[in-house]
Amino acid sequence: MVQNDLMEKETHIMSEIRFQSKYDSNSCMNHLVELQRKYPFIKLNVIGTSLLGTPIYELSVGEGVKKIHWNGSFHANEWITTPLLLKSLERFCHAIAEDILIDEDYAQSIYHQTKLSVVPMVNPDGVDLFHHGSSVAGMYKPVVEKINNQYKHVTFTSWKANIRGVDLNNQFPAHWEIEQKRKPLLPSFRDFPGYYPLSEPESRAMYQLSIQHSFDRVLAFHSQGEVIYYGYNQAEPSRSKEVVEDFQRISGYLPIRTIDSHAGYKDWYIQHFKKEAYTVEVGKGINPLPWSTFNYQEKQVSRICMRSLCL
Ligand SMILES: [Zn+2]
Repeated sequence: MVQNDLMEKETHIMSEIRFQSKYDSNSCMNHLVELQRKYPFIKLNVIGTSLLGTPIYELSVGEGVKKIHWNGSFHANEWITTPLLLKSLERFCHAIAEDILIDEDYAQSIYHQTKLSVVPMVNPDGVDLFHHGSSVAGMYKPVVEKINNQYKHVTFTSWKANIRGVDLNNQFPAHWEIEQKRKPLLPSFRDFPGYYPLSEPESRAMYQLSIQHSFDRVLAFHSQGEVIYYGYNQAEPSRSKEVVEDFQRISGYLPIRTIDSHAGYKDWYIQHFKKEAYTVEVGKGINPLPWSTFNYQEKQVSRICMRSLCL
């Protein structure tokens, strides 16, 4: 069975998960519990807690030596990446349970060759702020309201940062000082890199998880643009280009080697490990991407995710 057939066959399973447009950290937790109940071979770990004390979860599936990692919702208003990733995870788990083909490999064979790690929501406080406003910001309520007043924002739909205004994807030790000089100097709804690298518990949790596992391939999901960034300062392995071209072939997403940007998770990962790391920008439009585009995006994201396990 080819991958497209696999996706058609599984459609009915996906509908059992109650997706909703207000997909917050609580929805995510319920979703994880539901997935684990359905597929008991999923292992659920807590890799850290957010500033407001919300657990940051990691799911892992597989017993192999090839280590693949996916993450989503580094940025608050890109929260749609969380249910997108969990749908892909469910596709993988369903294929394992039924032992059907993913591309040309049987899913149980992938299970024995690969270990998949997924952190579906890196920034739970930011996502909750996006959906529910400053009433859920706890001790950071004055901070987020002050920032919004400064920028004359009425809602939190432009918010990308964590709950105290640090951009978690601008926090990593890969020429962080370049970003510090040219980005906001104070907490903001986006782009403020913090007062020093890895100052935030959420970015630290991702750093520590990565150091602990040294994944062979990582995919960080953001929105939007339908592009995949795959390089950093020419330090990426030569394999990255082949892999990203394969992702392009199955998804239509355009590969981009580098842009003038530093201190991102992908940047640091490539610089530190000299291994494959990709920033996948899902969908096209203005953030937050409308929920109505979910099914369309999900097809491309699933193709990329499944492929990342097989290559
Ligand atoms: Zn982003």
